[in-house]
Amino acid sequence: MSFYENTIKNMNKSAKIMKLDPETLQTLSSPQKTLIVSLPVRMDDGTLKVFEGFRVQHSELRGPFKGGFRYFPEVNLDEIKALATEMSFKCAVAGIPYGGGKGGVKCNAKEMSEGELERLTRRYVQAVYQIIGPNHDIPAPDMYTTPQMMAWFMDEYSRLVNKYQPGVVTGKPIEVGGSLGRGTATAQGGAYVLEEYMNQNNLKIEDHSVIIQGFGNAGMYAAEILHGMGFRILGVSDSKGGIYNEDGIDPFVVLKDKKEKGSVTKSDEGKACTNEELLEKKCDILVLAAMENQVTEKNADKVKAKIIVELANGPTSAEADEILAKKDVVIIPDILANSGGVTVSYFEWVQNQAGYYWPIEEIELKLKRIMVDGLNRILKFQDEHKCTMREGAYISAFDRLDKALKLRGSGAHLKCKVYLNK
Ligand code: NAD
Repeated sequence: MSFYENTIKNMNKSAKIMKLDPETLQTLSSPQKTLIVSLPVRMDDGTLKVFEGFRVQHSELRGPFKGGFRYFPEVNLDEIKALATEMSFKCAVAGIPYGGGKGGVKCNAKEMSEGELERLTRRYVQAVYQIIGPNHDIPAPDMYTTPQMMAWFMDEYSRLVNKYQPGVVTGKPIEVGGSLGRGTATAQGGAYVLEEYMNQNNLKIEDHSVIIQGFGNAGMYAAEILHGMGFRILGVSDSKGGIYNEDGIDPFVVLKDKKEKGSVTKSDEGKACTNEELLEKKCDILVLAAMENQVTEKNADKVKAKIIVELANGPTSAEADEILAKKDVVIIPDILANSGGVTVSYFEWVQNQAGYYWPIEEIELKLKRIMVDGLNRILKFQDEHKCTMREGAYISAFDRLDKALKLRGSGAHLKCKVYLNK
């Protein structure tokens, strides 16, 4: 099952449970607009390389399209459609006034120089700038896209429209209109939800060990924050593999080793293992912070954790969901667990629009409130419908999206099929 089919399956299941108006389900089952672009970029060796890029705008029912863009060799339209759809649901879960969108370019950012990445990013903006904007579609970082790239993005867009437009993109460095707390937001938001869930269920931090898959923006900060809260971190991984130590590892040492030697697998904090092996190691909480489709029908049965926190988008397949539910594994679903990222992106955008910047204490307070409210609203629906937390999350989002559609009218989600800009 593809990532998009998986997303549609999750939507259909929850729509059935809550008896959602079929017209609302039909409306939200395909994106409003899909743009496919060709991006010619001059490489450092003088050759020309043409990259393929995407921007999918799923829904602007509740506000401007919002969602990151990624640079990854396997990027494809199916994946970007799934991620854009999830963004509409994520923003609705968090109750922030945005719709959903996502973008990406098929490229290997790890093998490109800084100059090549800057030229690619500026080309991408030139290709999509007519369909984005601070009140229309606001991109942000995702896999292998960084705050520096967001600064180039903002600069190129501002140049094209001939005015300073910091609100066109979020996840920027502080010096060019970024928000305090954006870097750590995805991990911090997930930590607030996990802490609240554990408090409500009388689970103690000191009794819980953690494994984290992925050691980038989401995973690395998750390791640091959870370690700081008192959780024992037993294992971490990146694209090259993982390390595990049943006595615990210090994520700050692992980060230093990764910076110096190129991968967490080179750290002496734990014994090296493959990513597949790491997911099956003994732990209480598994944090998935790498990419989609990591826990599937092939390995779900071997997962030992009792709680899974989905910081990545779509890391658990629909088949795995069913296997894990039978084992009573609690999944804190992506559209709640990682919504801290888009929530602080929203704060950044509000600050850009107002030209007034908040202190970190204010950001943390507001983020915690939104995360805890999001969780409690889901738990209420979960209790009402006797369903899983993922189903409760989709129901929470559908409830808001359905009301917006009814208030605006069925034409609000006007379809404009595939735009080919080749
Ligand atoms: P990143 O590029 O900063 O880091 C990705 C990490 O995953 C790297 O450590 C990489 O080595 C690792 N990785 C890649 N392939 C892997 C594999 N097969 N097995 C294990 N590790 C692998 O990206 P990120 O921003 O941390 O994003 C990670 C996930 O979190 C993505 O699914 C993304 O969509 C999601 N997410 C990120 C944000 C955000 O604010 N950055 C917000 C919401 C969701």
